[in-house]
Amino acid sequence: MNPNLNQSVTAIKGIGEETAVTLAEMNIHSIHDLLENFPYRYEDYRLRDLADVKHEEKITVEGKVHSEPSLVYYGRKKSRLTVRMLVDRYLIQVTFFNQPYLKNKIAVNETITVTGKWDQHRQLITANEMQIGSSMKASNFEPVYTLRGNVTMKGMRKFIKLAFHQYGSLIEENLPDALLMKYKLLGRHDALRALHFPENEDDVKQARRRFVYEEFLSFQLKMQALRKFEREQSPGIKINYDLSRLKDFIDSLPFPLTNAQKRVVNEILSDMKSSYRMNRLLQGDVGSGKTVVAAVCLFAAVTSGYQGALMVPTEILAEQHAESLKGLLEPFSIQVELLTSSVKGKLRKEILRKLSEGEIDILIGTHALIQDEVSFKKLGFVITDEQHRFGVEQRRVLREKGENPDVLFMTATPIPRTLAITVFGEMDVSIIDEMPAGRKAIETYWAKQEMLERVLAFVEKELRKGHQAYVICPLIEESEKLDVQNAIEVHSMLSFHFQNRYKVGLMHGRLNSDEKDAVMKAFSANDVQVLVSTTVVEVGVNVPNATMMVIYDAERFGLSQLHQLRGRVGRGSDQSFCILLADPKTEVGKERMKIMTETNDGFVLSEKDLELRGPGDFFGKKQSGIPEFKVADMVHDYRALETARNDAAMLIASSTFWESPEYEALRRELESTGVLDGEKLD
Ligand code: ADP
Ligand code: MG
Repeated sequence: MNPNLNQSVTAIKGIGEETAVTLAEMNIHSIHDLLENFPYRYEDYRLRDLADVKHEEKITVEGKVHSEPSLVYYGRKKSRLTVRMLVDRYLIQVTFFNQPYLKNKIAVNETITVTGKWDQHRQLITANEMQIGSSMKASNFEPVYTLRGNVTMKGMRKFIKLAFHQYGSLIEENLPDALLMKYKLLGRHDALRALHFPENEDDVKQARRRFVYEEFLSFQLKMQALRKFEREQSPGIKINYDLSRLKDFIDSLPFPLTNAQKRVVNEILSDMKSSYRMNRLLQGDVGSGKTVVAAVCLFAAVTSGYQGALMVPTEILAEQHAESLKGLLEPFSIQVELLTSSVKGKLRKEILRKLSEGEIDILIGTHALIQDEVSFKKLGFVITDEQHRFGVEQRRVLREKGENPDVLFMTATPIPRTLAITVFGEMDVSIIDEMPAGRKAIETYWAKQEMLERVLAFVEKELRKGHQAYVICPLIEESEKLDVQNAIEVHSMLSFHFQNRYKVGLMHGRLNSDEKDAVMKAFSANDVQVLVSTTVVEVGVNVPNATMMVIYDAERFGLSQLHQLRGRVGRGSDQSFCILLADPKTEVGKERMKIMTETNDGFVLSEKDLELRGPGDFFGKKQSGIPEFKVADMVHDYRALETARNDAAMLIASSTFWESPEYEALRRELESTGVLDGEKLD
């Protein structure tokens, strides 16, 4: 058989069946996989001058043994071997734990090389590696790989070395010269060598740089191809709205649109007018005025003869949206209806009938909208709010209730730009980055739990002005029961505290929807002044008279989520406050609380959140949709990501990419993802 990279790893000397099974568990099947098993860090064996080494850094030094080693046993089987060593002009101490056999190997005046952690205060190295004589390492840098089962580090290094020596010449370049030259990237063969067998730091850096770009480019090519084919293969409808009627509607609004609102309205309208199907994400911080933007676009759709739908994640939110959209649109004889699972019996039947006959123009609701029984007469425009809460499947079902309707996804979770262009790479993105004028920034404070008394006094001061307050208790999925218990306790504590001065309500996920409804209505009507709640109030709820929010155990929330919660206050003209009760244990935790008190900008917080928690946690575990990269890091390599995205967009649009032999390897990769056959990435 001709040697090729797709051969099984068993072609490598030393890899038998058993090892092959272990490697397969690590997703390493072929020689190709083995060569692309990238190290996740490097062991640095360069000799260092102790003067430059920081406390707790890992170092390698060479020097002369200065004293007889002394060995002490303690506990069962535990030992400590200590020896003094002269490194340049420094006399330091070296300690080996549980390696008593080294005692006989170390002799005074001999040269040894030691690797370990440097304790600057005690001038001591806790060593984990030792070698008699000068450093004999083949390289100053050794790759460190993920291991499993019986595969050792030595083994893995050897396998990869053998694979590279025997099969390295078969490694093919997949990037065209033009790009390699433009960015001065290492070729694929050289980059693999530099990654696995670097001679110095720069080798690693250059190799990484190349693979980061390659990974991002491949990924962005997929996204951009998907976008192109979606446009070409599923032509949308042209929504020919009447501009002068639309202007009348905008003039009827109780306030002028902000510049940002105008800009995104124009972006959305131009998608609607065009013949391709809109697939757009609208991002805007809490309170930035997305609902009005939705209303304007729904107006445009309806007045050109289509129906519109708005899907939201909770009933409360559906009701609020229905109410505000009715207020805005019904004066223009547009029929707006609400459909949730609480709409039952005759009323439900009637709504469904009117919908299918086209008497209802706009339907607003929860998941109820995607049930089979719901059929539209002529659905042309679909909005989903808080889109990351809906699965891809639910979004698709809603979309298919029309014939290629235009789709707008709205989210109040500001998504860091880096994530937006990866996760939503195939979508167009509009951003409302401006708040309506006159909005007062929410004042946020961080208090320790022991300051609760003072916090409650502060709350009461607000209540005395006739305002209302939210008290939020965490809801962490692992133990809903405990969290509900917690909310119940806080509720009874506060009920006792405010006695008969103020009414305290309780809201949590274990209430049925009638109960929730009753609680929310009572709070809206100011029959209840303090609402103790789990995070179920997170989205949408709008009670402008509430000016105070206290968040228990705030360190348990992500920054973006805290920001979302905080957005429930600051909705009226009065100054609002948010108090974070938290005793974070870590520096990162403290930093998180601090930044909450410093900014009201959701985008700043989301970037920070991403930086502190990493992309995996950003959307929550369930359906992150975040691609995994082997070498690249979306946060730190964001410049490369943007570059790759621009390059990919240009390539996909050019005939060179589709025709020139230089791009064949990239085209083949693209083909293998199925994007070109119209398959979906998600
Ligand atoms: P969100 O983006 O969080 O959904 P909303 O659409 O609920 O925000 O708007 C928040 C509040 O701001 C609402 O009371 C709305 O009427 C008001 N609002 C929206 N746009 C403007 C504007 N251009 N000028 C003044 N107030 C506005
Ligand atoms: Mg909203």
